[in-house]
Amino acid sequence: MTGTAVVVGAGVGGLATALGLRRAGWSVSVCERRAGPERYGTAFGIHPAAQAALDRLGVGEAVRARAVPYRNAQIRTPEGRVLANLPLERIERRAGRAELMIPRPRLMDALLDAVAAFGDVPVAYGAPVSCVRQLAAANDLVVGADGIGSTVRAACFGGRGAPRFIGTVAWIGIADFESGVYGETWGAGRFFGITPIEPGRTNWYATVPAATTAEELRGYFDGWHDPIPRILAGTDPSEWIRYEMRHLYPALPAFVRGGRVALVGDAAHAMTPNLGQGACTAILDAEALARAVAALPPGGAPGRGAPGPGGLSAALRAYDAERRRSAQRVAFASRWLHRFMTVRRTGPRDLLIGVLPW
Ligand SMILES: Cc1cc2nc3c(=O)[nH]c(=O)nc-3n(C[C@H](O)[C@H](O)[C@H](O)COP(=O)(O)OP(=O)(O)OC[C@H]3O[C@@H](n4cnc5c(N)ncnc54)[C@H](O)[C@@H]3O)c2cc1C
Repeated sequence: MTGTAVVVGAGVGGLATALGLRRAGWSVSVCERRAGPERYGTAFGIHPAAQAALDRLGVGEAVRARAVPYRNAQIRTPEGRVLANLPLERIERRAGRAELMIPRPRLMDALLDAVAAFGDVPVAYGAPVSCVRQLAAANDLVVGADGIGSTVRAACFGGRGAPRFIGTVAWIGIADFESGVYGETWGAGRFFGITPIEPGRTNWYATVPAATTAEELRGYFDGWHDPIPRILAGTDPSEWIRYEMRHLYPALPAFVRGGRVALVGDAAHAMTPNLGQGACTAILDAEALARAVAALPPGGAPGRGAPGPGGLSAALRAYDAERRRSAQRVAFASRWLHRFMTVRRTGPRDLLIGVLPW
């Protein structure tokens, strides 16, 4: 059984959902408020489970071709003392594949190419959605993939889940040299992360209590171990991205509404980036939603106005059951990790890091 779906938002979650639904035989269109595909953004970590979901969406190879493996990374003190290894080797051993890092624009390219290859999935840019009811009247399924400030979520749940500022500021950027030193350095109320992104370049991110200028940010990491000051001194601040850390609070009671609307990605569960799961969870949502919808029994309309065990509303409930608790657990853990990483009394934390089974 197939139907018509409109996806609101052409970010990672929206494009992956459009791809999955189209592969399931649905007629799909995408509305994006931005004027065109956005080329900015630094690196995303893609965990093995999200890689498997990308395989099921038919883009695993294309993503792997644009990504680099992330191995051998440590947690350090600002002086450079190693406190622990990040569990990348364990993850790789268990999953049989390495964690990957990919520049956001390259992941977007892989998804856009796969969507475009169908030739019949229109992606309308400069098309902000404001009236969800209108979309629902014209389509069997509306997917809210419109990020942390989701219009679709607000239409379904009002103010029950809203972006909440958590009191720190993040800066991200890319250095034009290969660091060779990877991982995270945790100080008092601030931290700095360094990962591979592509040959010859290094992805970095920093979180501080407050900083509005590049000089303020550099000041926070003055005297930290190499290559942190070198990265901040050697990259152009006009290319850095600054954002206030927010997450969705409180957690939503459902990722679906009325048997016709589903939320994916940040629209459903925006989280702090500490576990590197923002893109991964959006991909897992997209693939799970498409799989649930693809499992609808053949014949008849997809349950419009007639929720029932064989209808679309049952598929959406299955999606909600598979993804909501899991994604919300990740969001909670990420928020907890953010607190742990930004405590001001570092002594007890650093001792604990040393004894935790990473
Ligand atoms: C341009 C951009 C750059 C980013 N760079 C990074 C980065 O470098 N590192 C990082 O960790 N995370 C970054 N993120 C966030 C990251 O992409 C997401 O947290 C994660 O991938 C989940 O994706 P998502 O598709 O759910 O949400 P998003 O990636 O936020 O995508 C949501 C999309 O919906 C669109 N949209 C919003 N409202 C409407 C509306 N009313 N009508 C139509 N369209 C709408 C937005 O323009 C956006 O394209 C970036 C996001 C964007 C949009």
